[in-house]
Formats: sequence, C-alpha cells, structure tokens
Amino acid sequence: MLVGAVVVAAGSGARFGGPKQLCELGGRRIVDHAVDAARATCDAVVVVVPPDADWTVPGIDTVAGGATRSASVRAGLAALGPEIEIVVVHDAARPLADEALFDRVIAGVRGGADGAVPGVPIADTVKQVNAEGMVVGTVPRDELVAVQTPQAFRADVLRAAHAAQPEGTDDAAVVEGSGGRVVVVAGAADNFKITEPADLDRAVEVLARRSVAP
Ligand code: C5P
Repeated sequence: MLVGAVVVAAGSGARFGGPKQLCELGGRRIVDHAVDAARATCDAVVVVVPPDADWTVPGIDTVAGGATRSASVRAGLAALGPEIEIVVVHDAARPLADEALFDRVIAGVRGGADGAVPGVPIADTVKQVNAEGMVVGTVPRDELVAVQTPQAFRADVLRAAHAAQPEGTDDAAVVEGSGGRVVVVAGAADNFKITEPADLDRAVEVLARRSVAP
C-alpha cells in the first residue's frame, strides 16, 4: 500500500508570535525537521504552506493551505494522487517525531484500523470546568491519552471524512466523527508541539541529547 504524507505548515503561529515553522532549530528550520521522518517513511510527501508563503522545502511539493488546520489538510489531500492508499498527516510544528513513530502509525493502518494515532499518558488530573471557572467534574485519567501527530489513515476513509468540510483540531476527530475506527499506538514524550517560545528551548535540549546518544 503506497503511503503519502501531508505535512501541514500553513498556520500563522498566533500563540507563538510568528511563523514558528520557519524558526531555526539546530541549524535548520522546524519545518525541515518535521519533513525528515515523513520523507524517510512515506512514498510521497506534500507540504502545505501559507497561501502567501515565499518559502519552499527543497525537493518537496508544496500546496497553499486554508484558513483552518482542517482546510489545510484538505488542500494537502487534494495534492496526493489516487494511488496513495494510506495518508499520514503531520504537524510541521512537531519537529521531533522520528521514523519509528511514523512506522508505528502506518503499521496500525496496515493492521486493519481506519486510523492510528500516537498517544501518551496524561500526568495531570483533568477537570471539566464551566464558564464561571467552577469545577463540574473530574475525568478518570486512566481513560485519557494526549494525542499527537503523525496520524495515519486509510486514504479513502480520510477523504470521505473530510468531504463535508468538517473542522477538528486533529484528523482523528474528523474520522471518528464519521464513524471510523481509530486505534492508539505508543506516542513519544519528545514529540511535543512547538506552541510557546519556551518549547523551542526544550526542543534544542532534545536535539542535543539525541546527538550524544549512542
Ligand atoms: O494551530 P495548531 O498548533 O493546532 O496547528 C497545528 C499545525 O497545523 C501547525 O503545523 C500549523 O502550521 C498547521 N496549520 C495549517 N493551516 C492552518 C492552521 C494550522 O497548516 N490554517
């Protein structure tokens, strides 16, 4: 089954204070790191860039994104050919996802699931809070995982789930919403999303640790 990757890099980085995908990390842009593992594990890669982008990723097809993450994923999907049977969607804002993680989610779909997403246990206790800031409940933590990208899906299932142009903070939500079966595989603590400037310092530390690892 041919695998295609959509790396979404069309966000404005509002919370970060600018286009974080272009920030330097270990001498390369964040987006270049995010593309590395996709390129190594997938047969085709498309990077979704802001409509007004004046940058590219050398050797990789780019396509203009939309106003929301889901719209950007749809732009990437439209650029992948019909021969692609598994689609992996990855946030450019997660530069530390490694090849093993891509392989795990792809294996989940090859194993028969409609989708496979990486999950990590939640350390904090999670409360439901109302608009007045009052706690209304405590969610049992052993039933929760924090979900990351890369997320792999059967291409037909992902395309059908996106057909009605739904919005979601990830693609698993879109596929779940249309009745798809999504499994969770082991995520990676290092695979955090660069959201705040301090996350970049943390990413520098992870890269330094990896470069001295045996
Ligand atoms: O905003 P958030 O951090 O959830 O974005 C996750 C990923 O989606 C980022 O890599 C960002 O560049 C991408 N994105 C996009 N198009 C948008 C909004 C976000 O490609 N309109």
